[in-house]
Amino acid sequence: MLTLKGRASEAFSSFVGEVTFAGRPFYARSRAVLVCEELTHAAMGYKGCITSGGRGSWFHPHHIYGVEQPGLLHEGDIVAMDGTGTIEVLWEEGSSQNCLFLTENCNCRCVMCPQPPAQSDPARFLRQAEEVLELIRGRSISDCCITGGEPTLAGKAFFDILRRSAREHPEALISVLTNGRLFSDRAFVRRLAGIPAENVLFCVSLHSELDAVHDAMAGVRGSCAQTQQGIYNLAGYGFFVEIRTVISQYNCRYLAEFAEHLGNYFPFCAHVAFMGLELHGHAETNRDRVEVSPEAYAPCVKDAVLTLVRRGIPVSLYNIPLCLCPAEVRGYARRSISDWKNIYLPRCRSCALREECCGFFSTSSALPETFIKPFTSGGHV
Ligand code: SF4
Ligand code: SF4
Repeated sequence: MLTLKGRASEAFSSFVGEVTFAGRPFYARSRAVLVCEELTHAAMGYKGCITSGGRGSWFHPHHIYGVEQPGLLHEGDIVAMDGTGTIEVLWEEGSSQNCLFLTENCNCRCVMCPQPPAQSDPARFLRQAEEVLELIRGRSISDCCITGGEPTLAGKAFFDILRRSAREHPEALISVLTNGRLFSDRAFVRRLAGIPAENVLFCVSLHSELDAVHDAMAGVRGSCAQTQQGIYNLAGYGFFVEIRTVISQYNCRYLAEFAEHLGNYFPFCAHVAFMGLELHGHAETNRDRVEVSPEAYAPCVKDAVLTLVRRGIPVSLYNIPLCLCPAEVRGYARRSISDWKNIYLPRCRSCALREECCGFFSTSSALPETFIKPFTSGGHV
């Protein structure tokens, strides 16, 4: 999440507002945050103000000043501001990578989790998600991702937010990032009844069909069976399911067999994504146990992707730069990394395929620099 910092005019509680540079008529200011250089009387009536200049001679109780790079904000963005001077972009207007973040809690303990779960009160996140939905009501959006932590742990609020997103935005793809465990419970999955399934995609993490492998990666014994049952239950309710598999030392060499398993037991799945690691959080801490070199994963990924292609299941590679993909499966690699944490190496400037390449996570503590080779205009490394 893009976060800007400045200094607050005084202590105030967190609130959510909609960014405007252009300004609003007086009657339409109560939910808007004015962004400008200096605070003047023009800020009257706005919910909050963000300025790049100093404190100014005018006073507003929800003013954050001295903000560097306010130009990173856009007209229509939705931000959370608080009295510590923090501005978090909860919704970026025009982006296809927006999320509703419901909780930091999770019922897995994945060895490669880039954003380790935390025990915190989800009330703030749920309130923010509801406020974002209120502010985007009536907008035409392309995508909205419901995520966490594990968003299903929010219980009733999860179902309410999913129902509201799907109903109010039938034009959008509403995706849910989940480990799928709770959906193994029939009573839980029944609560999806009445939620439109046409525009909802459940993106379920399943790293192997082997209990020993998946459970070791997810950090919970029994989670492999629960997740697979969860996928069946979601599909039984008519929802589209994507299977997401993180490539690590645990599962890399078994990926082709896993792909066969998906073809045999999950031929209905809408999409499979094999994902490179983000070396952050637990993945960084456990780097020795999880990281696989591009040389080692390339043939495994190639076999797995081609197996799924042969089985007629749509497949993609996420977070794997094009020059690390075997040529036979390069066409399945996607630009998957969110803009705000997407970087490239200096040598990527000369690469003919930079525009199509996902690049790297800025949050990763190490990059596979020695393997990176720019493409020439002929398309060859
Ligand atoms: S990777 Fe996802 S499922 Fe695993 S611990 Fe992190 S948030 Fe939970
Ligand atoms: S050189 Fe850089 S831009 Fe080109 S394919 Fe490799 S990582 Fe991507």
